[in-house]
Formats: sequence, structure tokens, C-alpha cells
Amino acid sequence: MKLYPLFARLQNLPVLVVGGGEVAARKTRALLDAGADVTVGAPRLSDQLAQWRESATIRHIVGDFDESWLGDAWLVVAATDDNAVNRRVANAATARRIFINVVDDAELSTFHVPAVIDRAPLQIAISSGGAAPMLARWLRERLETLLDHALGPLADLLDRSRDRIRVRFRDLSARRAFYTRVIEGDAIALLRRNRPREAQKELDRALLAERTRPLGTVALVGAGPGDPGLLTLRALRVLNEADVILHDRLVSDAVLDLARRDAERIEVGKQAGNHHVSQEQIHELLLRHARAGRRVVRLKGGDPFIFGRGGEEMEFLRANAVPYEVVPGITAALACAAYAGVPLTHRDHAQSVRFVTAHTRESLESLDWRSLAAQRQTLAVYMGVAQLESMRDRLLAAGKPASIPVAVVENGTRSEQRVIVTTLRDLDGVAERHALQSPALLIVGEVAALAGRLAWFGSAPIRDDASIGRSANARKAAA
Ligand code: SAH
Repeated sequence: MKLYPLFARLQNLPVLVVGGGEVAARKTRALLDAGADVTVGAPRLSDQLAQWRESATIRHIVGDFDESWLGDAWLVVAATDDNAVNRRVANAATARRIFINVVDDAELSTFHVPAVIDRAPLQIAISSGGAAPMLARWLRERLETLLDHALGPLADLLDRSRDRIRVRFRDLSARRAFYTRVIEGDAIALLRRNRPREAQKELDRALLAERTRPLGTVALVGAGPGDPGLLTLRALRVLNEADVILHDRLVSDAVLDLARRDAERIEVGKQAGNHHVSQEQIHELLLRHARAGRRVVRLKGGDPFIFGRGGEEMEFLRANAVPYEVVPGITAALACAAYAGVPLTHRDHAQSVRFVTAHTRESLESLDWRSLAAQRQTLAVYMGVAQLESMRDRLLAAGKPASIPVAVVENGTRSEQRVIVTTLRDLDGVAERHALQSPALLIVGEVAALAGRLAWFGSAPIRDDASIGRSANARKAAA
């Protein structure tokens, strides 16, 4: 059945909802959102509806449906769980030419309520004409993730400037081109940064300029640890708008697959010891592409500010007056712990957690090992696998008990994830025995032992400590 789509302005118009349950409450909420003057007719009201009655947000007619309830209503919603009642409401409303929606009954309804994506004043409504409401819902969820929340403020901004735009561009095609430039330009990035006044200025500037050239922006984006499901919605949206993506090696293909297909991709990553692009070169690339008016995404593994040199890049952009935004990501410590079943803090075991990097000999030397060896804290060590033993020696020397559990998480959150549970004492040779690869994260502390019991992702953790016999394990590892 083909429907005629429309958006109804219900501000202060009387609307009747028949039914007093949860469904009726849901329908009432949407009507109240649109400013309708809602009367609910039902013998009894759900808690939410009763609350609205108490606050005089709605009116309540007590009892069983009667035609007189229709009064001067513009719309009626029948939301009772009694088909016969719903049918009576529908017939009465239709006889009086009042639009009626019967919940979950396309046949009895003269209007349907679509699935909605709300970026007010912008709204997107989806209907399957009653054929497949699930499909409409599915599509709504899809679009919900793709559409920036700053679209609402952008629509407001355009609304406020509408007359000026009309005067400035009398010709329709010039006006259309201008709108496209604004919508795809920098204003939305400014709104995302919660800078409505600057967004207005940017629009004013665009109005004055003959042809606007986009400013070019850089988003420092955290890609998370690898599982694309751990990307934030904002990261996904920014990736969808990117013209250029400068990414680290650590960023997984699964994440890159989500980016705009025609975005230029530049790998600037470093692998241990093999720096193909220096930090200065990365800065220059960011600047060059931003100055060319492109939307640049600087995509980093985990979070940009945790051992990611995001701070330096931000300072560089600031010094060169390139507008930037930052999208946080899930850092390896949080992700690896979660995917290994290790709670980083735990009332019984650890009241604090420290993120430490031990990539090089120098970084090892600069750490305060005494404080790192303190009890009742968890250490999350971002490190090169090569530093495992020197780290162990320093912790032991600083007084950390040799029996403290350690979990090594290799390729955390990815399909190849491995977790090895051992102790500080038995850390010796773990890297060789298991042919550990980068990236790997170390969790040191009593909580690490919980991986054995609480693991839920991927293959079960491998135990490797003297108490269960090295040879048995080595055999298992080799198998
Ligand atoms: N900015 C990143 C960390 C960069 S340092 C973040 O917030 O996660 C690189 C180190 O992070 C690696 O050597 C490793 O110790 C750790 N790491 C990153 N991703 C990882 C993963 N998927 N599994 C295990 N460790 C990871």
C-alpha cells in the first residue's frame, strides 16, 4: 500500500489517545514532544501516564471508550490491548473523518507512525507501509549511526540565515551551490566542537566571499584497539567525511574498511625500529593536506592521547592555526583488560590502575619503579615485547612479589587475540616460548589471575607458570 508522507504540526491541537498502558504512554510521549494537547482515555493509567496527569501535562478521561471522547480531536491513537475496542475507536474516528492510528494494525489505521531519526529541526521518517516494520527499524538504526548529531544545530543555523542567503543569492542554482558548500564545509565541524558562534561567523564569511574555499580541518581520531565494534559513533562519522586519512600501522584493516571509499589513505605508521615516516614528516603532511582545504583524519590506534603523540600533533596544528578536533578512542589497556576478562580495578585487589609505557630502554629508565611496585594497584604496560625481561627485573628489584600474576594480551580484541597468564617469576622466556608478537599489552597485578576464570572472548587463556609444569605447557604451546 502506498502512503502519502506528511509531517503534522500538532502544536496545541487536541489529540486523543485511547488506552492507559505502556504503549499508550510511548505514543503520548511522542505527541507531547510535538506540542500536542493530549487527552488520554482509559479506565486506569500506567505510572508514567499517571505522573503526567498529576503534573497536568495530559488530561485523563476515566472509563471505557465512548464516541463523545472524540470531541474536537485532530488525531486519534488507539493503543488498547483489546482488538474490539481498537476497532470501535477506529470506526468512530473514521466516520467523523478524524485520522486514526491503531497501534500495530495497518488496516484499521488511516495514518501510520514512521520510524524517526531525530536531529530536530531536521527529522527523517521511514515507513515500510506496514509491510515490514522491522526493516524500517533496521534502516533507522543504520542511519542513526551515520547521521551527525550536529545536523540539528546546522539546520537551525541555516534557518537563521535564510533571508540573508536568499538576498545574497537570488539565482536558485547559485543558492543551491552555496548551501551545498556550507553543508559540506566547516560549519558542521565547528558545531560538533560546540562552537555555534564560530559556526555562524564561518557562514557569514562564506556569505561575503565570492567563492569560499574550505578551511581544511584535522580530526585526531582514536581508532580503538582493532575490533571495529569499539569505534565510537563520532569516529565513524568523521571517517565517513574524510578526504584524507593518515593512519598508523596499528589501525586494523577492519576499521579502515569503514572509512569513506574514495578517501586517500596514507600509512604513516611505525613498526618497532622501522620508522618510515618521522613525526616531523607527519606534521608536514597534516599541514599540507589541511591547507589544501581537505578534511584530514589522523587515525591512531587506541586513544590519540595515550602514548600516541596526539598532544604534539595538536600543539603543532594550534601553532599553525589549523582547526582541529579530537575524537577519543578506547585505549589498549581498557580494551585488552575487558576482552581478557580482567577487571583493572577490583574492590578486593586493586584500588588504582596505572598506564605505563616501556617501549625502549630509556622509557624504562625514566620510570619510578618503587611506586610502580606498590601493592593494590594494577599496571597496564604498553610495551615492546623485547622489554619484557628488563621490566620484570626492575619490578622485582623494587620489591614487587614474584608471585604477582601477570597477563600478556597479544592482539587484544582481534580474532587472533591470545592471553597468557603467568606470574612475575615465570615471565622469563614467555616471549620466546609463545613467539609473542606486537602489539601486546601487559597487565601486572592480582586482577590478572582473574582472566583464568572470567575470560569470555576468543580462545581460553594459556597458563604458563612453574606451578603447572613448564614442559606440559611448552608442549601445548608447540601443538
Ligand atoms: N594510543 C594507543 C597506544 C599506542 S602505543 C592506545 O591508546 O592504545 C602502542 C602499544 O599499545 C603497543 O605496543 C601495545 O603495547 C599496545 N596496544 C595497542 N593495541 C593493542 C592491541 N590490540 N593488543 C595489545 N596491545 C595493544
